[in-house]
Amino acid sequence: MPITLPFRPRRESYPPDMWTQCPGCSEMLFNKHLDKALRVCPSCGHHFRISAPTRLAQLVDPGSFRERDAGLVSRDPLGFVDGKPYPDRITGAQTATGRKDAAMWGFARFGGRRVAICALDFTFMGGSMGSVVGEKVTRAAEGALAEGVPLVVVSASGGARMQEGTLALMQLVKTVAALGALREAGLPYISVLADPTTGGVFASFAALGDVNVAEPNALIGFAGARVSAGTIAEELPPGFQRAEFLLEHGFVDRIVPRSELRDELVGLLDVLAPPAPADGGAGSVRRG
Ligand SMILES: [Zn+2]
Repeated sequence: MPITLPFRPRRESYPPDMWTQCPGCSEMLFNKHLDKALRVCPSCGHHFRISAPTRLAQLVDPGSFRERDAGLVSRDPLGFVDGKPYPDRITGAQTATGRKDAAMWGFARFGGRRVAICALDFTFMGGSMGSVVGEKVTRAAEGALAEGVPLVVVSASGGARMQEGTLALMQLVKTVAALGALREAGLPYISVLADPTTGGVFASFAALGDVNVAEPNALIGFAGARVSAGTIAEELPPGFQRAEFLLEHGFVDRIVPRSELRDELVGLLDVLAPPAPADGGAGSVRRG
């Protein structure tokens, strides 16, 4: 006769480094299984937020990413204090993540094809865009232009970093100008919008891909729902600012589950990009 437990183990008995509760379906998920499933809940399909290094490892050809400008750090020209001084916030985030700021960029290969890629990191101060994030996105675009290769940017950000004030807002213009040069040169730019992509990041480079690809149910928009409702003095439609709503209204072109994202990008680059140089060649490696 099978033995069934009369109760489920209490939540406190799950060690947090081994288990994660899914915010979508409340299921307790074994972290090792969750990692294997690319941090997507096997029960309900909830896409967990992931760091920039995890994102890059999931997307590009294994071991092909070469980071550039890893040492760029923000200054504090405004002497900004909100609860605590800005430099202390930066130091805290650096200690927690082991990285200098909320973006990583470099060159990598997708199915053998060389691309410039930049990934924003929501785990570092909410992926907010100050002068370092803006500079890295810009340098990724300039790097793509210099080498004549496509650009991929993966966004996950709450928007401009308020602690840098106008300097953060200037990044909108700077990144868009760099993308303009890429467009003039006829080089493709694919924007991937992960949860969340909001504020100044959505209002600049994240919305400007030749193809805008979103992850399922990602929150995507400029102002938050409460501000938006207040501005138009109307109730918001269901699903407002979710990826599916934006697809329906033409702001994003594709919604792609994380398990298919890499193959989707390889396929898009095959269509959009000029033939890859012979060193490794397009289509030479394709992970299943
Ligand atoms: Zn779930």
